[in-house]
Amino acid sequence: MNKLAQAKTELLKQYGIDGDIILFGEKTEESLAERFAEIDGIAEYNQLKVIRAFQECRVSEACLTGTTGYGYGDTGRDTLEKVYAAAFHTEAAIVRPLIACGTHALSIALAGNTRPGDEILSVSGKPYDTLEEVIGIRPCTGSLAEYGITYSQVDLLPDGSFDFEGIRAAIKPATRLVAIQRSKGYDSRRTLSVAQIGEVIRFIKGIREDLIVMVDNCYGEFVETEEPSDVGADMIVGSLIKNPGGGLAPSGGYICGTAECVERAAYRMTCPGLGAEIGPSLNLNPSFYQGFFLAPVVTAAALKGAVFAANLYEKLGFKAIPDGSESRHDIIQAITLGTPEGVIAFCRGIQKAAPVDSFVTPEPWDMPGYQDPVIMAAGAFVEGSSIELSADGPIRPPYNVYFQGGLTWPSAKLGVLYSLQCMKDAGLLQIPESC
Ligand SMILES: *Cc1c(COP(=O)(O)O)cnc(C)c1O
Repeated sequence: MNKLAQAKTELLKQYGIDGDIILFGEKTEESLAERFAEIDGIAEYNQLKVIRAFQECRVSEACLTGTTGYGYGDTGRDTLEKVYAAAFHTEAAIVRPLIACGTHALSIALAGNTRPGDEILSVSGKPYDTLEEVIGIRPCTGSLAEYGITYSQVDLLPDGSFDFEGIRAAIKPATRLVAIQRSKGYDSRRTLSVAQIGEVIRFIKGIREDLIVMVDNCYGEFVETEEPSDVGADMIVGSLIKNPGGGLAPSGGYICGTAECVERAAYRMTCPGLGAEIGPSLNLNPSFYQGFFLAPVVTAAALKGAVFAANLYEKLGFKAIPDGSESRHDIIQAITLGTPEGVIAFCRGIQKAAPVDSFVTPEPWDMPGYQDPVIMAAGAFVEGSSIELSADGPIRPPYNVYFQGGLTWPSAKLGVLYSLQCMKDAGLLQIPESC
């Protein structure tokens, strides 16, 4: 072992990580050199794409100041929205701190683009848990169902692909908006690739060109060189405390898409008539710009952490989704741990690696919007930010933990090693000699 490697091992031991786990991590990392180089290549491409968008939109020092009150004529805000539209190749965008989270952005996009009597069709199965109340799949005050907007869904086929014939049969005269969720969320299915999404959009538009296709892009941004907006989506929607905020945006969401769809969403975001004209950026423009600038490399760090975790846990006999060698379409790594204790130990390991609140012990709790108790580990600079190192899982079979984020690769690596240590300490795994 060279001097640096020895010094690193010493430091990791001071964290309480055992020698066998450190060695297992090192060997696994070495075996992933090619994968990591590929991830860096995509990050470079996306970095170039983002800088180009900044330059085309003539981002200037003046853009970094903010407005208060109504926020009329907020140049920084308006230019930031042009930057997002340029980077994601859409006609328009809204990118606002006013949008409190991804669910809020999706809710605005759906409500703004549907009217009573319209139907929303999800073609990627059950949507993300919190959207069930937005749509009214689970009854809720103010849901779209209460406004006479109906919902139907076509599940993905058992192999995770789109059910094309099922989709054809489900499109009715009332169908107005088709929703596609790129990432698996709290589900065991595969994440959809941009290529797959493009194929289904071509199919849908071939049946009815006037259908609006909205993609829930949460966790997918910058993982590939293309986004769903490059392959025909009318709207892509996401959260700024995930990938595109680069870890710096303290709040916010975005909707990028056609001018018409974005305008309708803006009238829902604020109110009819005012739309995107109002809404102060406060003093948040610098973190929005800088976060978007950093997002491609931050996303790459998170992806490396995910690939690393998949490979380690797979070698120990756990099921990883995606598996250790599969191509990646989002930053989420699910690992089937099989027991509630496993999910809890994993999350406690992630917490221990955090820069903030490392001494806190996460416990499962009944989170609003979720059906089962959820445990969440995060010691983040921005509360709830899941582009930062974090892990969570609903306490329900098959006891999957969802691991994501890591603003830097070394911090993601530490989190994964700590998770192994906590699992080992709880008697839930052993590192075999062969590792
Ligand atoms: C995170 C996420 C959302 C929105 O969640 P928020 O917590 O409201 O930001 C929606 N869909 C998917 C697939 C997600 O991963």
